[in-house]
Amino acid sequence: MIEDEYLGRSLTDGPEPLTPTSPGDHIGVHAQKDGRFYIGAAPAVGRVNGELLLELADLIEAHGSQRLRTTPHQKIVVLDVAAEKVESLKRRPLRARPDPSPSVFRRSTMACTGIEFCKLSFVETKSTGITVIGQLEEALADVADQLPERLTLNINGCPNSCARIQVADIGLKGQLMAGDDGEQTPATKCTSEAGSRPPTATRKRASAAPSAG
Ligand code: SF4
Repeated sequence: MIEDEYLGRSLTDGPEPLTPTSPGDHIGVHAQKDGRFYIGAAPAVGRVNGELLLELADLIEAHGSQRLRTTPHQKIVVLDVAAEKVESLKRRPLRARPDPSPSVFRRSTMACTGIEFCKLSFVETKSTGITVIGQLEEALADVADQLPERLTLNINGCPNSCARIQVADIGLKGQLMAGDDGEQTPATKCTSEAGSRPPTATRKRASAAPSAG
């Protein structure tokens, strides 16, 4: 319709988008162009708080870095780390240390703010994500090294899909579902394979309790 009724010509085809050759999430230790290094780490489902950030700020300052970034993948990146400081910074324990070597289940998990901070949400998302990561790490520990580098788990509090479950290997979506008595209650629907198949399982939640995480 656009071509026939408005443009009067065919739309011009552009080149196909490039296929990413790496996860692109900055996780791990990588060289900067200036000879120093940046370290990408994964707080579980992007969960941080003031206490953690202050602790992290003190830690990276003690290792000579003045710069820290957060990313759209819900990761933390510490910049400008000298080569001789990398191992010390990676090993230093924090109360809730963002993990620079996360498991395949922890690495690519993303959750929207959920019922804690979004009035549109039906369910809790962040602590659900942390729980699911722990369960996957335990249940699939013996096959984790056979899985691809990225296994994406995205969690939305409602169908608006800010955390983009449609492009995730496993997607969890909060919504209302009718029970046997016809009454609607908050539930979490599970989908898989980047939206290429219909939902494979549905798990009802008894309530949408606020997060403790
Ligand atoms: S997906 Fe829904 S609940 Fe989550 S942030 Fe977006 S609008 Fe809010």
